[in-house]
Amino acid sequence: MAPDAAAETIPTHVHTLIVGAGFAGLGVAARILREQPRADVRIIERGNDVGGTWRDNTYPGCACDVPTSLYSFSFAPSAEWTHTFARQPEIYRYLRKVAADTGVLDRVVTECELQGARWDDSRALWSVRTSSGTLTADVLVVATGALSTPSFPDVPGIENFGGTVFHSAAWNHDHDFRGEEVAVIGTGASAVQFVPEIAPVAKHLTVLQRTPAWVIPRLDRELFGIEKSLYRRMPWVQKAVRGFVYSLREALGGVLQHATGLLPVFEVVAKAHLFRQVRDRELRRKLTPDFKIGCKRILLSNDWLRSLDRPDVTLVDAGLAAVTPDGVVDAAGNEHKVDTIIFATGFTPTEPPVAHMLRGTNGHTLAEHWNGSPSAYKGTTVAGFPNLFLMYGPNTNLGHSSIIYMLESQSAYVSDALKMMRNSDIAAVEVADDAQRRYNTRIQSALETTVWNKGGCSSWYLDSTGRNSVQWPTFTWKFRTQMQQFDEENYISRRRTPSFS
Ligand code: NAP
Repeated sequence: MAPDAAAETIPTHVHTLIVGAGFAGLGVAARILREQPRADVRIIERGNDVGGTWRDNTYPGCACDVPTSLYSFSFAPSAEWTHTFARQPEIYRYLRKVAADTGVLDRVVTECELQGARWDDSRALWSVRTSSGTLTADVLVVATGALSTPSFPDVPGIENFGGTVFHSAAWNHDHDFRGEEVAVIGTGASAVQFVPEIAPVAKHLTVLQRTPAWVIPRLDRELFGIEKSLYRRMPWVQKAVRGFVYSLREALGGVLQHATGLLPVFEVVAKAHLFRQVRDRELRRKLTPDFKIGCKRILLSNDWLRSLDRPDVTLVDAGLAAVTPDGVVDAAGNEHKVDTIIFATGFTPTEPPVAHMLRGTNGHTLAEHWNGSPSAYKGTTVAGFPNLFLMYGPNTNLGHSSIIYMLESQSAYVSDALKMMRNSDIAAVEVADDAQRRYNTRIQSALETTVWNKGGCSSWYLDSTGRNSVQWPTFTWKFRTQMQQFDEENYISRRRTPSFS
């Protein structure tokens, strides 16, 4: 479904070019336009609509596992949510509405994919190639998200499989599971949502689990009519609920980051949940993690564990090793004949493809510069890449709260940087190398004692070098505080000269 009023062509030059129209891109554009309504901003979006991961992930049962009171923009409250944990279709609808209401939709060019961008130092501009043509931009804001490129394990034989294969992030809605043997690869946040939905439909499911996850109940319920009408008439009530949920989540973050000695309390809750939902002792053993709760993302589900206890579902506690023409082979060497394989194997957050497309001052790509271990200043700017802002950049992910809070903090920072550049006639800002280094030393030292580094698991929070380049190490209000104002003193700024204008 294409957006109603999206712009259709790209200009030859734009001041601020945003890549991606998901939560991050829409949020930063809305913030810039709220503060500078006449700002020259465009968003290019490779899909045919706004919405990002909430447009693409349409698998059965897809919902948010962060309470919606927090997983929504602070500047765009809605009294229309149906549940405390919103479902994918309503989040997608919400994003389309926010894009239209804020005027951002008029700035979106859809079906326009970034192909490459090179910093042109002599002109202090980004030269950008897209699938719809080339353009230049003073400032590039990359809002391509961490969950936009599906990851497939590199296993032999996949090309010879004779049945149906798809990824959970590109669900095949035409596919009929009735009477089928189905293999599900992976047991992360996506699998726990769709397995309970398809188990009653397929003839049999084989779920390949490499690592069990800690699962706790999702305290989900329908919102009462009276709550919605209260939110409509007295918006401060909804704000107060948001503040309350935020505080609870910060307290959980405090435990994951600073008081890991309290984690066994949460493990008791998860074990009781497992005991209530799974009768089979051997299955419970397979489903019990051997690492501290919180080390990998804690999963929230009321029906995942129960669905594995069904007679027509088999949990195999071994990963996928190979694919044959008519089945999958697990890491223990057993073959399982199946008609369909669903990969629920996540995304590529620590190796974002966009990093291969951006070339900085010395001609190297961001991926070459990072060399397998992303880092940035305040999760947003990178030395050697002037006028580049990364939304949801390195060390901004959370294990306990809403990423929207982090994105709004980054949006304030980007908007403030743009205002400073305009008011002081600055053509280019580049974070100083030593400021970036000092910042990352602090972040890495703060991460050392957290459950993500010390919890005894291997997770996508740790990159190929074993460094945690994903998680924010402390309370989110500390991130907000550091992002309130653009700190020009930590940047090398270049004034606009007549040749640049
Ligand atoms: P994920 O959490 O990264 O999980 C991927 C799963 O695939 C893991 O269980 C992983 O096992 C498994 N896997 C990878 N290679 C495998 C192999 N060769 N054999 C067997 N298993 C294999 O991916 P996801 O579930 O799509 O979720 C990704 C992220 O999306 C989440 O962390 C979350 O941030 C987000 N998400 C959010 C929501 C929400 O409600 N907000 C919902 C869905 C997803 P290992 O654990 O052993 O690596």
